[in-house]
Amino acid sequence: MARAGVARSYPLIVRAASQQAKHIMAFELRRKEWERIEKEGIAAYPEECCGVLLGKEQEGRKVLSDIVPLNNARKDSPRNRFLILPEDFVRSEREARARGLDILGFYHSHPDHPARPSDYDREHAWPWYTYLILAVEKGQPRDMTGWLLSDDRASFLPEEMTLSDDGTKFEARSGT
Ligand SMILES: [Zn+2]
Repeated sequence: MARAGVARSYPLIVRAASQQAKHIMAFELRRKEWERIEKEGIAAYPEECCGVLLGKEQEGRKVLSDIVPLNNARKDSPRNRFLILPEDFVRSEREARARGLDILGFYHSHPDHPARPSDYDREHAWPWYTYLILAVEKGQPRDMTGWLLSDDRASFLPEEMTLSDDGTKFEARSGT
């Protein structure tokens, strides 16, 4: 396990193809949560990890303050599907409320697949929520990207994300 931790460089490059997308909101997280999601992705590999993103909406930004890992309920296909059970969702929402937070979205990993939403992801997505996807390649975390469902639900739009520790902006890359 040769991981460089916080010193590691993150895939932060904004690509032209995603710039046409309208950004409804920006998503802000700290390295601490980024790395927790990476750890979840590593631990679950070669299956998908998934969980809930908790935080607050503030002046047009979603600010992440905690993550709640969940069991991936898709036992039939845990390597390329993720499913959050309604009871897990309800419990997470209750937990969020008790802490004065909201569910901002969901994260899951793509083992040996790019950090781009699948058709399955889009078909099961809800508007407004942020969908973070972490690519895990051969057990190692790679790109993490954020997505929002378009208003007509026909596509996912890349969401602008910021590391609040140092203000670094990053965005879903097209292609890989
Ligand atoms: Zn997916």
